[in-house]
Amino acid sequence: MRVRILRGATQVGGSCVEVEQSGTRIVIDVGLPLERPGAYRDLLPDVPGLWATADGSLHAVLLSHTHPDHCGLADLVAPDVPVYCGAAAERIWNSASFYVPRMTPFAASGHFRHAVPLTLGHLRVTPWLVDHSGYDAYSLLIEGGGRRLLYSGDIRATGRKPRTLEAVATACRGVDALLLEGTRIRNDAIENTEGDVETDVARALRATCGMGLAFYSAMNIDRLVSLYRAARRADRTFVMDLYTAAVAHATGNPRVPQADWDGVRVYLPNNQKRRVIASGDFTAVNAVRPSRVFIDELAERPEAFVMTTRTSMLPELRTALGGAIAIWSMWDGYLDRDPRLTSTLRSYGVPVLHAHTSGHASRSTLQRFAAQIAPRRVIPIHTDSPSVFASAIDNVEPHGDGDWTCV
Ligand SMILES: [Zn+2]
Ligand SMILES: [Zn+2]
Repeated sequence: MRVRILRGATQVGGSCVEVEQSGTRIVIDVGLPLERPGAYRDLLPDVPGLWATADGSLHAVLLSHTHPDHCGLADLVAPDVPVYCGAAAERIWNSASFYVPRMTPFAASGHFRHAVPLTLGHLRVTPWLVDHSGYDAYSLLIEGGGRRLLYSGDIRATGRKPRTLEAVATACRGVDALLLEGTRIRNDAIENTEGDVETDVARALRATCGMGLAFYSAMNIDRLVSLYRAARRADRTFVMDLYTAAVAHATGNPRVPQADWDGVRVYLPNNQKRRVIASGDFTAVNAVRPSRVFIDELAERPEAFVMTTRTSMLPELRTALGGAIAIWSMWDGYLDRDPRLTSTLRSYGVPVLHAHTSGHASRSTLQRFAAQIAPRRVIPIHTDSPSVFASAIDNVEPHGDGDWTCV
């Protein structure tokens, strides 16, 4: 078996990996780079049979999870190449694409099942569900020709499924090669958890006499759970927007907060309203009709709510912002890059609470994961610091984009 990183050896994002055994070739992840000058068609890694001019030589494309840096080019994969990913991950991406213009839907031909092997020609792939900020994310164990390769995908141990990493490590102990993500290989700060986020937000809400304005990614389901639970601990109703309600429904998971739960209401922001009207499809709005909440009720009792908030919504919420607190539950860099939002919040007199934990493992978690697996070698991926790996982890062997190596 041989493997090459097509993109991701020296950058976070745009991940793409090719594996070959006895003529069977598969591609893992077809991600968009985080920085993407030019058109998408200029960002396609050079892999025979992958894109529009398919020659039938590629067996399958596997998507570890549906974050844009892993699946953002999936809609451009040749239609006769089978695409596999998590069923919920596909539903979430495709339902979110209605609300987010840069996301294009794709159709998977098959779905992962946790720990159930998939035979693809001369390769056998076993997906292992892992903890990550993207829902329904997998590490992939690839076996062929008597060799074993583990692709970590994006991982962490601070979310709501922290034990999944141990299960992967136990099942994949002693693999010949580990392609290990290293987004935060340089970061050794003590990490907080989703549970800490929940506790911090609940405490802040209890001390606030106005509305809680929660800024977070609708696709971060662990965070949705944390914020909902924090709202309930503070005796407040959690308000989703229509986009979040659609994504929560797409999980298919009855334990994820849903629009029809007690303690959940749904608000339809103006820009989502315009999108629905333009589409002429009112199914999603009709489905949440009994749970709808409108601005008058929010303005009358702002202290009773935690509101899913996006920057564009602040003007329409202005009558409900007295005494409010903003809960910034995303990477701080997004707020730093948005001075207009900061000044808008200041102009409304809204203070900001930072309550977040990363979707990626810190150095100590990566070290523990690698030590438990004890692979023959570790190949860094999804990192801008491959050179840091060698000082942190045993048996590291960096490879540049495009270099084939035998597993
Ligand atoms: Zn991810
Ligand atoms: Zn990623």
